[in-house]
Amino acid sequence: MTELLSDHLRSVFGCKVYKIALNGGFTCPNRDGTAGTGGCIFCSEGGSGEFAGDPSCSITEQIEQGKKLVADKEKDGKYIAYFQAYTGTYAPVCRLRSLYTEAVEHPDVVALSVATRPDCLPDEVLELLTDINRIKPVWVELGLQTIHERTAEYIRRGYDLSAYDRAVSALRKRNIEVITHMIIGLPGESVDDMLATVRYICASGATGIKLQLLHVLKGTDLETEYIAGRVDVLSEDDYIDILKKCVELIPDNVVIHRMTGDGDKKILVAPLWSRNKKHVWNRIRNEVLRDMS
Ligand code: SF4
Repeated sequence: MTELLSDHLRSVFGCKVYKIALNGGFTCPNRDGTAGTGGCIFCSEGGSGEFAGDPSCSITEQIEQGKKLVADKEKDGKYIAYFQAYTGTYAPVCRLRSLYTEAVEHPDVVALSVATRPDCLPDEVLELLTDINRIKPVWVELGLQTIHERTAEYIRRGYDLSAYDRAVSALRKRNIEVITHMIIGLPGESVDDMLATVRYICASGATGIKLQLLHVLKGTDLETEYIAGRVDVLSEDDYIDILKKCVELIPDNVVIHRMTGDGDKKILVAPLWSRNKKHVWNRIRNEVLRDMS
């Protein structure tokens, strides 16, 4: 049976596990001039880390702050330290070692998760992740978004598909879990294009998949495109339909980590229906997960 993240975490760790989004004070090659300066077309000023901690605080402080956010739900919870903002492996390896080690040494942290790009995993970083994986499980989250080169160019992703394949193979060889992010509703993509991306990810060796609705966020170039009427966003009904088709393709050995967007409501421009997370989640439960077996 296809597994959702919450069930997977309970079966692996034996309890409810929460993710704490951290900010290691990184930047990314799409912003610092290495691959580009404008960033991916959809990426917010905060490097997709709006819910991450304050980078001026230590990792331990950020973890403690993150724990407080779930304190009323869980007193003795366990946590995944999630380096979410920008590119979580884009720093000198000695700095990465110190940040990751501080995170996994926290007694309530059961695993480390690092969001990054496939072209930011040089050998020394892979070795570091392998070392940390011996202490606590490491997950690497890769922002692939699409397998289609024309879309990748349009969103200014800045690397090609072969970089993704190499990264997944290197990580899996080291027994590190790989979670691949894809965006549903990217401009110019048909439903078949999106389903092809799901199929590719599931066959790539990834152990998990995050399906995210395309959000138009304030201050991004995508917002300019949207306001000019050059791109559109999905309706709620279309999203649910596409999601259903995507989920049907996901095999049992690939864990579904997310099925909605997770944008900051304060900077969300469109689609505004996605602000009502409870309603969207109810539809996903009733219409997408109902027949999952
Ligand atoms: S999505 Fe990632 S790679 Fe793209 S601009 Fe944002 S932080 Fe950089």
